[in-house]
Amino acid sequence: MTDAILVINAGSSSIKFAGYAVSNEGDPPLLGKGQVEGLKTEPRFEVEDANGTTVGEHAWPGPIRHGAAIDFIIDWIQANATDTRIVAAGHRVVFGGADYAGPVLIDAGAIAAIEALIPFFPLHLPHNLAAIRALADDHPELPQVACFDNTFHQTLPRLAQMFALPRKLFDQGIRRYGFHGLSYEYIARKLPEYAPEARNVVVAHLGSGASLCAMREGKSVETTLSFSGLDGLPMGTRTGSIDPGVLLYLMQDQGMDAAALERLLYRESGLLGVSGVSNDMRDLLASADPHAAEAVELFAYHIAKQVGALAAALEGLDALVFTAGIGENAPEIRAKVCHRAQWLDLRLDAAANATGGPRISTADSPVSAWVIPTDEERMIALHTADLLEHRPSG
Ligand code: ADP
Repeated sequence: MTDAILVINAGSSSIKFAGYAVSNEGDPPLLGKGQVEGLKTEPRFEVEDANGTTVGEHAWPGPIRHGAAIDFIIDWIQANATDTRIVAAGHRVVFGGADYAGPVLIDAGAIAAIEALIPFFPLHLPHNLAAIRALADDHPELPQVACFDNTFHQTLPRLAQMFALPRKLFDQGIRRYGFHGLSYEYIARKLPEYAPEARNVVVAHLGSGASLCAMREGKSVETTLSFSGLDGLPMGTRTGSIDPGVLLYLMQDQGMDAAALERLLYRESGLLGVSGVSNDMRDLLASADPHAAEAVELFAYHIAKQVGALAAALEGLDALVFTAGIGENAPEIRAKVCHRAQWLDLRLDAAANATGGPRISTADSPVSAWVIPTDEERMIALHTADLLEHRPSG
């Protein structure tokens, strides 16, 4: 029997899951992973083994709730992976506020605390909670752990946490928190294997959501996402930072309300809005449309600009790391960013970049550049195993 940790990442329309074997040393091995997509339309379940071979599929004719999807996932694992036993579940939770210094074992108090944070993340937290509750209801004996996307940035210096707003708003929680923390934490763990000497590092997490993190000795000291999923870099469908005056203008002059602004800022902007073609970087790179090319340039321009800003916050730069879907797979984007960052003494090795590195800067480049794959799910499995081991007995 293999003891396994079930990792769950519950979104509004999908639940992604992965199983990892509990292991005493090193990274826990992946057993399999999958998802239920289209929860609100025509849900489809698919699971693959550790080699990427599809080993299970299912479809439902109409919408199902998060709880039904979770139950199906657990039942499928119990029926098909008969040599594994799920010993705990680890959840990705987008936001844990300012109080949690790390992942927590979920109990009624933790659920209430996360619930109280819903006004900060109304688009995400209810779905994270729905998955937690479904498991707590149907499998009350199973320990659950919440891993928050912001806690890695608890080390941000106070100035990096502040907006220049009246003080009382900071006290109400309106501050710069930062996200993609599980990805950054995983990279911080891996970095010594690649660049053991690097002290000041900027990591570029470039997926459908995108941000940068400035790390000093593996600790976050500045980051581009802040209070919500909207700050910093342009993303697949999100704006990144814009002048807040634009929002006032749209409200006052064009009568846009909060719902219309939310749609504009979260779903209609970014690579999709600028290109009018797609939110997917693969489509943009393959497109002959000049608007697609401009969206790609704008993305690279903002990344390079913010690399400079974060290098300034670090007061120096030793290494730049690319990760996540675009960072790991799009040499074109890495090349554009590195060329714009030449002034920082970063010299791209074009051949190494084309083949994915891992080192993509020349041997004599004073600042090194790297491609390091991230693994947020494995980071959650590590945290969950850790908390399980150290939880008080009884
Ligand atoms: P998320 O987990 O945030 O949904 P990912 O980290 O999977 O996102 O990244 C998704 C992005 O990565 C998409 O824009 C996709 O186009 C891009 N991507 C994946 N593979 C490639 C590739 N080979 N070339 C360019 N972009 C890629």
